[in-house]
Amino acid sequence: MATHEFDVVILGGGSGGYAAALRASELGRRVALIEKDKLGGTCLHRGCIPTKALLHAAEVADHIRTAGKVGVTATLDGIDAAGVRAYREGIVAKKHKGLEGLIKARGITVVSGSGRLEADRSVTVGEDRYVGADIVLATGSYSRSLPGLEIGGRIITSEQALALETIPERVIVLGGGVIGVEFASVWRSFGAEVTIVEALPHLVPNEDVALSKGLERAFRRRGITYSLGVRFQSAEQDDSQVTVTLEDGTTFSGDYLLVAVGRGPASDDLGFEEAGVRLERGFVQTDEQLRTDAPGVWAVGDIVPGLQLAHRSFLQGIAVAERIAGMSVPAVPESQIPRVTYCSPEVASVGLTEDAAVAEHGADAVVSYEYNLAGNGKSEIIGTGGTVKVVRQKDGPVLGVHLLGDRVGELITEGQLAVSWEAHPEDIAPLIHAHPTQSEALGEAFLALAGKPLHAL
Ligand SMILES: Cc1cc2nc3c(=O)[nH]c(=O)nc-3n(C[C@H](O)[C@H](O)[C@H](O)COP(=O)(O)OP(=O)(O)OC[C@H]3O[C@@H](n4cnc5c(N)ncnc54)[C@H](O)[C@@H]3O)c2cc1C
Repeated sequence: MATHEFDVVILGGGSGGYAAALRASELGRRVALIEKDKLGGTCLHRGCIPTKALLHAAEVADHIRTAGKVGVTATLDGIDAAGVRAYREGIVAKKHKGLEGLIKARGITVVSGSGRLEADRSVTVGEDRYVGADIVLATGSYSRSLPGLEIGGRIITSEQALALETIPERVIVLGGGVIGVEFASVWRSFGAEVTIVEALPHLVPNEDVALSKGLERAFRRRGITYSLGVRFQSAEQDDSQVTVTLEDGTTFSGDYLLVAVGRGPASDDLGFEEAGVRLERGFVQTDEQLRTDAPGVWAVGDIVPGLQLAHRSFLQGIAVAERIAGMSVPAVPESQIPRVTYCSPEVASVGLTEDAAVAEHGADAVVSYEYNLAGNGKSEIIGTGGTVKVVRQKDGPVLGVHLLGDRVGELITEGQLAVSWEAHPEDIAPLIHAHPTQSEALGEAFLALAGKPLHAL
């Protein structure tokens, strides 16, 4: 067995792993990045980028459908599944090439193959052993299913959903979280009949309930049907369809059942526990600094419990590379990480929901304000409804910002700054927002919370 020595050995070349690799090499470390599939991981090849390309194609279809409303004559002749696929794959290929070029330019050694953590601070790949002064685990996650619900045929996960050659006519989506509502939104825009089944009482159940209810209304108007608060019982498929039965006996049939019930950590059989890394339900346990229990072994990304988001993986990868280089990097609380669901309308949030703020600070210490996008000129122009909700501590800082409406994902950064810098609405109110922009709706909420509403009562 050949031994290769590096300063940092990284297992997994997705968002977390490659971010750690880029930053560590920038800081002068010799880095090996081990990847069994393609650099870029889930986000680039099977997650964020391809799904957002689909959502953009869906948005174009919707614009064509509603073009008459703004006086533009256009007819939607149909969706060319192969054309959408070519567009999506083109974007992914370009980003992948760019990433490979960047990794090469930074002098990072990429090792192709499946790696296994060993107890002596090394990773083996076939007959080669990569020894690191530090090791970073970044093996990511996989689509989970429910007990007894086997993936195959018409029962698919997001990976197979992306690979479909045709646009389905009728789809059932199991799970009303981020991935479920994004696919539901795309398929509806492409003309499918879509039913979402969610066991909890609301769609996007982790969001402030004002956003969940707003999204439910918007989806209903779009003709997306959903069943809330009843659990899935079973699914059966034959040559022509799949039928889902819920615990109350209701049944739904479709061409496909998309199982979008969450993602589990990819940590099985990789030598983690044998090397002294503690797992809980498969997730790697770390301290605040992302150190595992095994000395010199760190973990980042979806294998670490918390928000499974690409930008959280970037953040953690960068932070770990800097800590390895001896820099003091404070941990960023999960509540300061922005969350965007890119369905139509979009859902974006940062910080505490009103319920969480009340649970933490008490009902008397929390004030919230909701501004309806109907009062916002730019939103009217682009034809979106929605809401901006800001939660603050009474006489204190902004605790949470919650947005619903087309394009609001681009506005969440301002909310993130407000929450992370513990700004008071009074600090932000004098900073006038450009007119006419959707960001003015946020400005209106800050003005109102500072006691001087402008276009509101
Ligand atoms: C459909 C979908 C849509 C999404 N949309 C968004 C979005 O819009 N925004 C967002 O922020 N997040 C989104 N996500 C989540 C995002 O993709 C993940 O949070 C992110 O990819 C996690 O990064 P990671 O580095 O932890 O893992 P991954 O990106 O999964 O990378 C892990 C890598 O490790 C490799 N690997 C695993 N085991 C081994 C081994 N033994 N040896 C070598 N290599 C190994 C894998 O091949 C993989 O490339 C989406 C996810 C999905 C599924």
